[in-house]
Amino acid sequence: MSLRRLSLLLALALGAPLSVHAVDFSAAELARAKALQQRLLTLDSHLDTPANLARPGFDITHRHDHNALSQVDYPRMLDGALDGGFWAIYTDQGDRSDAAHLVERDHGLRRLMDIREMLAAHPDRFQLALTADDAARIKAAGKRVVYISMENASPLVADPSLLGFYHAAGLRLLSTVHFANNEFADSATDPKGAEWNGLSPAGKALVEQAVKLGIVIDQSHASDAVFDDLLAMLPVPFILSHSASKAVFDHPRNLDDARLRQLAAKGGVIQVNAYGGYLVDETPREERRQAEQEIERRLGSWDDMPIEKGVELARAMAELDQRIPRRRATLDDFFVHFGHLLDVVGPAHVGIGMDWDGGGGLPGMADVTDLPRITAWLQQRGLSEAQIAGIWSGNVLRVMRQAQDYAAKQAP
Ligand SMILES: [Zn+2]
Repeated sequence: MSLRRLSLLLALALGAPLSVHAVDFSAAELARAKALQQRLLTLDSHLDTPANLARPGFDITHRHDHNALSQVDYPRMLDGALDGGFWAIYTDQGDRSDAAHLVERDHGLRRLMDIREMLAAHPDRFQLALTADDAARIKAAGKRVVYISMENASPLVADPSLLGFYHAAGLRLLSTVHFANNEFADSATDPKGAEWNGLSPAGKALVEQAVKLGIVIDQSHASDAVFDDLLAMLPVPFILSHSASKAVFDHPRNLDDARLRQLAAKGGVIQVNAYGGYLVDETPREERRQAEQEIERRLGSWDDMPIEKGVELARAMAELDQRIPRRRATLDDFFVHFGHLLDVVGPAHVGIGMDWDGGGGLPGMADVTDLPRITAWLQQRGLSEAQIAGIWSGNVLRVMRQAQDYAAKQAP
């Protein structure tokens, strides 16, 4: 994970020149957009921020500007008018041995504990949301909304019955797989190709159990065959928490138009992401790749790096951008994907999942403080306030409500 994420994170946040882009907004437009966001409920469906909670020196209540390791904290959430979202328990996958599965099991529980400790430490600022209606109530109480999600179900391989425990502890959104195939599902990006041709038998059982519990299923990172399995087997709609359009950029992580229409026909939602490598081809030249590895060797591994080193890291990456430039996705590229998704399925089936703190972010969209640019763009496109409200939270919460209502009806 380190290089892929590191190389995308915020090298430009330090003040390196922004790429020239056509989309721009006046101060008045941005102020109007921010004011609208403050009235609406604004949720991002994929925050990798929990990976920072145990990082040495990180404090969610402090502002971490111009830091390549952080895009989300409480002060910047206020600035960008982001009410909250789905805080992900992300787990890096090992070699799929029994020993690796135990390490993953413990890692997942550790992240869950980190999120619960954040909630316990700051009850005046953050609150756990469990139902679709909780988010609006929490916003009205002046706090930030914390739904818990899981990206990569590998922590459940050793003991799938842990899903019940996670649900009791607040888990409300579950993805099966990440960059590589696991015991539950095929990944969209495993170089070895398909292993299960979709969900494995264990994956189907896990998804069925999740549906019984009212947990929403997240298709992001899984292969198209998994999408087809979910479409066929689920009695409720599902989402893609952070994905983009295959018609705009043909990458296996993105969704094609035919499947987009199937997703929408089932009532589902695609949450557009800002991970540059899925928006355009950002593959670096070998010289650049080696230079990035050299920075990582010098500054230490990304996962354990103290937060204050993130400033130095941002500076090193900005210098590298001057010395060996690489193609990067722009805000324009992001809006091309967003616009295409809106054109194909309409505003009731699109939302926002930027992949903050997980590799998301672009020049001009460096951290959560830039989010009003999205609302300003939606306003420029002429979307109504109700449509913008749906994109910012109503659509994904509609799917959650359906999943929870279905589970409640099945319960004995
Ligand atoms: Zn991801």
